[in-house]
Amino acid sequence: MSLQVPKGTYDLLPPTSAVHLKVREALAGPARLAGYGYVETPVFEDTAVFARGVGESTDIVAKEMYTFDDKGGRSITLRPEGTAPVVRAVLQGGLQNGQLPVKLWYAGSFYRYERAQKGRYRSFAQVGAEALGSDDPALDAELVWLAARGFADLGLQTTRLLLNSLGDSECRPAYRSALSESLGGLDLDEDTRRRAAMNPLRVLDDKRPQVQEQLAGVPLISEHLCAGCREHHDAVRGYLSDLGVAFTDEPRLVRGLDYYTRTTFEFVHDGLGAQSAIGGGGRYDGLSQALDGPPLPSIGWALGVDRTVLALAAEGIELTQRERCEVYVVPLGAAARRRTVSLLAALRLAGIATDCAYGGRGLKGAMKGADRSGARLTLVLGDRDLAGDVAQCKDMASGEQTPVALADVVEQTRERLAQ
Ligand code: AMP
Repeated sequence: MSLQVPKGTYDLLPPTSAVHLKVREALAGPARLAGYGYVETPVFEDTAVFARGVGESTDIVAKEMYTFDDKGGRSITLRPEGTAPVVRAVLQGGLQNGQLPVKLWYAGSFYRYERAQKGRYRSFAQVGAEALGSDDPALDAELVWLAARGFADLGLQTTRLLLNSLGDSECRPAYRSALSESLGGLDLDEDTRRRAAMNPLRVLDDKRPQVQEQLAGVPLISEHLCAGCREHHDAVRGYLSDLGVAFTDEPRLVRGLDYYTRTTFEFVHDGLGAQSAIGGGGRYDGLSQALDGPPLPSIGWALGVDRTVLALAAEGIELTQRERCEVYVVPLGAAARRRTVSLLAALRLAGIATDCAYGGRGLKGAMKGADRSGARLTLVLGDRDLAGDVAQCKDMASGEQTPVALADVVEQTRERLAQ
């Protein structure tokens, strides 16, 4: 058998690749209009960035990282998420010393060794936004709104927003002990007990029904928030209401990364089955310090491109799939092929999406190519046309064909496309 992509990964090929591009653009669009600048970090980092930044007790660090020693003996990890690298980059670039908050967005591929299934891949795409250096609850609301806008701009109707506060270093320790004690009285398997010992909050994230049933009576963080966290959370909820962003309080929402504090949120889509989270994020006020930086209260999100594409399909929303060209050029004969090279350049320089029948195809085969290209106009250049300094311009919808002078073919084409 010929070589295949590795398990849990996929190729993006036309025409569906165009949908992914559109989704990336749509999800990043609102943040770009709100002062977020583009950031790009390497696809691999020193393993410590994730071990310290994401947290040793998380599934991501404990089980899912692609980690290897490079030829220089350094432990390297393919990025499983974007926040820790962005914080690392901000600290390295000293951006925290300038205007705050530092607002950044990114898009790219991320890598987790997960059990592959529909909507869960080992190489997947996210669009992310981060705002570093402010604890203003209005910033929490801004980010949530920007994510909600991205999904809405794509036409998604049935996304739901789940919202919680995870407390902070003042109130979470007491909650953690109360939860730990309560979990100690449950009938949990060995593996889950081990997770509970490392980080009891992670058990709340367990999706298995037999675990969820037992969790019915455990203490909730919402009952343990300190005054500062309560005030912050109430402010965020108030701003979201002002913005008309609907949300559901979900006091068990902990998410899979250790660095979250206070606001945490997830967007879910009910058309996706088990992998229903299409995006999520939250505050990570302690992450900068975990990476040897100064205190830098921050908030961000990552939205899943693949699952957003699946959500669009579940709602029956079709984004235009083809990157269509508007004009297709058919050269017949060697002289016409030569003339076509500069004609293509002139049309494209004028901003007209143009393709051509390569390979010296005859008229019939080339016109089939014109049909398939989806172009609105076809310019046919035969030897006789060339001798008369014209091209035959065919309107593909009406079939009407008229000669246009090569001297002003770009102008003529533009005018006909505008009609
Ligand atoms: P996380 O970084 O885990 O908070 O994930 C943010 C978003 O990325 C999720 O809501 C998903 O939409 C998406 N995502 C996370 N892991 C995967 C995966 N393995 N395959 C596809 N999408 C994923």
